[in-house]
Amino acid sequence: MSICKVCGKECQGKVGLGVHMRKSHPGYEKCRLCGDFYMNLDRHQIEEHDMTEKCPVCGMRFESSWGLRPHYQQKNDHPNESIPEIREKDVPQMNE
Ligand SMILES: [Zn+2]
Ligand SMILES: [Zn+2]
Ligand SMILES: [Zn+2]
Repeated sequence: MSICKVCGKECQGKVGLGVHMRKSHPGYEKCRLCGDFYMNLDRHQIEEHDMTEKCPVCGMRFESSWGLRPHYQQKNDHPNESIPEIREKDVPQMNE
């Protein structure tokens, strides 16, 4: 049983809660990182998950510009030429 934190309604598991949220609270979006619903998902992902980079095409958030590149390569509707530049500080350091 999943309880809607907005109105307190009991829903049939996470799937039922997702259906309820879409129907009753359309302003809320599901965070793909913690599975919770937020009215201001953008701010939540920045504050709680440090997702400071945003895909300019679909708006999905990432921790770094490094994480954006594979995202672009997976998506057909993301033009390769608009891949954001990877900043030096975002490149993982290999210390081996
Ligand atoms: Zn509700
Ligand atoms: Zn979250
Ligand atoms: Zn995207």
